[in-house]
Amino acid sequence: MTAPRLEVHLDRIEHNTRALVERLGPLGIEVCGVTKATLGSPEVAGAYLAAGATSLGESRIENVERLRHGGITAPITLVRSPMISQADRVVASADTSLNSEPDVVARLSAAAGALHRTHGIVLMVELGDLREGIMPGDLHDAVHRVLELPGLALRGIGTNLACQSGVIPDEANMAELTALAVAVEAAFGIHLAVVSGGNSANLPWAMTPGVDVGRVNHLRLGESLLLGREPIGRSVVDGLRADACSLVGEVIESGRKPSRPRGARGRAAFGVPDDRPGDGFDEHRVIVALGRQDLDVDGVVAQEGFEVLGASSDHLVLRTTGPSPAVGSEIRLDVDYSALLRAMTSPSVGRRYLRP
Ligand SMILES: *Cc1c(COP(=O)(O)O)cnc(C)c1O
Repeated sequence: MTAPRLEVHLDRIEHNTRALVERLGPLGIEVCGVTKATLGSPEVAGAYLAAGATSLGESRIENVERLRHGGITAPITLVRSPMISQADRVVASADTSLNSEPDVVARLSAAAGALHRTHGIVLMVELGDLREGIMPGDLHDAVHRVLELPGLALRGIGTNLACQSGVIPDEANMAELTALAVAVEAAFGIHLAVVSGGNSANLPWAMTPGVDVGRVNHLRLGESLLLGREPIGRSVVDGLRADACSLVGEVIESGRKPSRPRGARGRAAFGVPDDRPGDGFDEHRVIVALGRQDLDVDGVVAQEGFEVLGASSDHLVLRTTGPSPAVGSEIRLDVDYSALLRAMTSPSVGRRYLRP
């Protein structure tokens, strides 16, 4: 079997999705399953949908197109603002997009007209994290513009926190989003079907006992479904599986070596050298055939019995604290979101989708 490779357990992704659908459903919140860390995998999208996600989210149009070519017919939202140069493709393949720029919205309207389609718009509002979003004071102007343009349907409003500045979704900023939705509805005499509160970082807020979620009825979830974790504290969400996605690599060297380098020392190939004091005694080390060329090795976490000592372009060096694997055997590593994303996009990492 090819190594390195990602192993994606679709049944565990389904478990995570179902668990969150069941927990958020009673609060009136729908799950939009975000596939961007999987490059728009139709297999993963199928797992989300089978477990109750009502729509899909993707950040890139080529991934949306991959989902469509893979037979996915569920509603798809482009969760990054469309590029003007891709407006036609966005209207052709995605049902809805998250938007914050008037010029983009105008191009989507023109593209929708040319293709005789209606494109859904969710207007993103900046609530503190300072990535995408319209300033709250400019929201009514933006709503007015969308309502006037042909070929567009204003589906709702949304926000995104915790990505650029680490601002935590909480009662205050979520109440602000609700208040904005209510104000827009009152001012324009319309109903906003979607109030999209955010991403996996919203889960601690949404799961606070007795929480009032206000008008928030939609979360765009990726990391929690794939890795079982919420990004704020990196902790495993209660009841979710953190082993749905893992990385498998092959051992190319295994043996005892001193724990302290010998000789005068300068910079290592990728900056900081391994600077553990080391007791000078031998330790058992293994080298796994993967490195910085393949993925973000800083996001690779050794499983029990191993400790990552460092990585260069093609070598991942670990110390074993348990039984030592033989050369030619495979070892399994956990990945964080960044390592998962980069491994998925790497031409040198294989991918296997598994069901029990
Ligand atoms: C990536 C992304 C998400 C999903 O975030 P997770 O942390 O993976 O749940 C949601 N919304 C937007 C706008 C995103 O870019």
